[in-house]
This record gives sequence, structure tokens and C-alpha cells, in this order.
Amino acid sequence: MAKKPSNNYAVIGLGLFGGSVCKTLTDRGQDVLAIDINETQVNTYAPMVTQAVIADATDETAMNNLALGSFDHVFICIGQNMQASIMATLIVKELGAKDVICKAESPLHARVLNRVGADHVVQPEVDMGQRVADRVLEPNILHYLMLNKDVSLSDVRVENPDLLGQSLSQLNLLERYHVTVIAISHHDQVTVSPSKQTQIALDDTITVVGKTIDVDNFNEVAG
Ligand code: ATP
Ligand code: ATP
Repeated sequence: MAKKPSNNYAVIGLGLFGGSVCKTLTDRGQDVLAIDINETQVNTYAPMVTQAVIADATDETAMNNLALGSFDHVFICIGQNMQASIMATLIVKELGAKDVICKAESPLHARVLNRVGADHVVQPEVDMGQRVADRVLEPNILHYLMLNKDVSLSDVRVENPDLLGQSLSQLNLLERYHVTVIAISHHDQVTVSPSKQTQIALDDTITVVGKTIDVDNFNEVAG
């Protein structure tokens, strides 16, 4: 039986997407079991990951022997072979994997993956298209994170002259916009929990947290 990586990450399908997942996890110091049906792909990633195995994700016995059910996070990164992607998801879930993250090629594919038990389904082209468009529509928002459905955290580049050259206490953003400033970045220098005397300069990035509606409103004002 394959050695179970201590951090419980398995990546099935080593195309561009799965390869990128492997690289990111490995760069962050995680143990990764990488699986592909294609020997060339496995040889490409073998030097990088903890363990790389040639196996067919639709082969229930092979997946069982690799102990995939005991992994906490399994990424199924097979797109074009939809049948393999769906069967692999079903098998890995039935084997007991707690968190299965799948890549889908289409909305219908995504719906089927959800039905067979996928915990998260991503559609990279759709998600990335949204992000690229958002970035053009809201150029002052550098990062945006929804902490839950009501609360967001956002990095905002300040360009509105009304906000420049004033201290946080003069700006009184909590009172006026209901957002809390948790950091200010000036060029490469980041001040976490800035004092009330800190002034905002042109092109500073301020990190704010608040209700999503208030954060969105502040983003409009800051630009
Ligand atoms: P990407 O966009 O990530 O490059 P893709 O959608 O172009 O991927 P896919 O056909 O989804 O390509 O294949 C991704 C990887 O999954 C390939 O390396 C392929 O060999 C592997 N793969 C396909 N079927 C299986 C299977 N049954 N078991 C294991 N790996 C598989
Ligand atoms: P995606 O991954 O976003 O689905 P793709 O890489 O598979 O796209 P592309 O060949 O990049 O496919 O085409 C994306 C879209 O752009 C298609 O709808 C295609 O008809 C359209 N397209 C391609 N070339 C041109 C062009 N010269 N002018 C206008 N539209 C184009």
C-alpha cells in the first residue's frame, strides 16, 4: 500500500490545472500524492511531489490500494474525459475522502459532479473570466475576499483626492463608511493595525474589512 502523506493531499490528473495545484501545494511545503494515467505526466511531476503514481482513477481497486479514501483533500483535475472525472469523483467519495475538489468543463459537468458527491467544483475558465472582468471594472480593488456571505475583506488603492493627506482619525472611515482599516501598504512597506495618526498617500493600498455592502461602497469612493 502506498505511504499516506502526512498532510493528506492527493491530486488526480496532471494537466495544466492539476500540475499547478501540485506545484502550489509543494511550494507551500505540503506532501502531495500525484496520480495520472499517463506515464509522461507522472514522470514530469515525480521530482517535485512526495510520491507520483501511474494509475487509472476509474479503477476502484487501484484507488483503494492507494488509500485515497483516507486523504482529507483530493483534487480531481480531469476535465476533457468527463466520464473518468465523474467516476473518479464517485469512487473517491465512496472510499471516504472528506473533501473532494473537482474541475468541471461545463455547467452541466459541474452539476453532475455535485450530484455524485463533489464537495467543491471549480470551472477555471468561468471563474478566471469573472475575475479578469472584475479587475477591469474595478481597477482599484487589488484583492477581494468574502469571509462569509455578508462580510468581506478588500485591498483598495486610494486615488480619491478627498481621502489623501488625511490621517485615519480625520477620515473616520468607520463612522462614515462602516469599514475598519486593518493595514496600509505604502510601496512595499506594510503597516498592520495603523495608528490613528497614519496618513493616506496617493497610491497607498488600504486593507479594509466590513459588511460586503459597505466594503463595496467604500471601494467606489476610494477610486
Ligand atoms: P488541463 O486543462 O488541466 O491541462 P485538460 O482538460 O486539457 O487538462 P484532461 O483531459 O482533463 O486535460 O486531462 C488532465 C490530465 O488527466 C491528463 O494528464 C490526463 O492524462 C489525466 N487523466 C485523464 N483520464 C485519467 C484517468 N482515468 N485516470 C488518471 N488520470 C487521467
Ligand atoms: P476558452 O478556453 O475561453 O473556452 P478556447 O481557448 O477554448 O477558449 P479560443 O480559440 O481562444 O478557444 O476562442 C475563444 C472564443 O473566441 C471562441 O468563441 C472563438 O469563436 C472566439 N474567437 C476566436 N478567434 C476570434 C477572432 N479573431 N475574433 C473574434 N472572436 C474570436
